[in-house]
Amino acid sequence: MTAAEVLRRLVVDVPDFPEAGVVFKDITPMLADPDGLALVVDALADAGRDADGQRCVDAVWGMEARGFILGPAVALALGVGFVPVRKQGKLPRETHAVSYALEYGEATLEVHTDAAGAGGRVLLVDDVLATGGTARATVELVEACGGTVAGVAVLMDLAFLPWREALGDLPVTSLMTVS
Ligand code: 5GP
Repeated sequence: MTAAEVLRRLVVDVPDFPEAGVVFKDITPMLADPDGLALVVDALADAGRDADGQRCVDAVWGMEARGFILGPAVALALGVGFVPVRKQGKLPRETHAVSYALEYGEATLEVHTDAAGAGGRVLLVDDVLATGGTARATVELVEACGGTVAGVAVLMDLAFLPWREALGDLPVTSLMTVS
């Protein structure tokens, strides 16, 4: 079975969550399936390897909250460390912060200034790419730490939203496109 097949079978569409008109992709049934989870984590980790199968990243960064579930598993598979990118006010030491626009209002993400992968090549891991605002803000945090983003790896991208505009020509690995 492929990762896309796992996701088609085990990700559940939830209409009108968290608000009317949004179809939320619930990944918890996939997380509960050991074979499906293993296959998906392996496929995400491939985004951190070159054509010869050699690791080509120095750290995995994951965004709160579902990037915290997938990211450490991908980091372990690659043999690198994991960095949590958190919502404002959660990290205890000195941080870099980046704010970005939401449909209504603004959100801020933070990372410790001495995060692993600072100055190195970073793989971003999250579950869903929608507008790309979360991933774009995280790219700016990596750069604020002196690093570069080698790629973005997600379970799903929502093709009807403008995430590609937000990410320019950054390499994106998406295991399933939702159109
Ligand atoms: P963006 O910043 O690209 O608009 O939204 C992506 C962020 O929102 C990700 O961190 C992702 O976890 C969350 N997100 C947006 N839509 C969905 C969805 O349908 N399902 C899940 N699981 N997460 C979503």
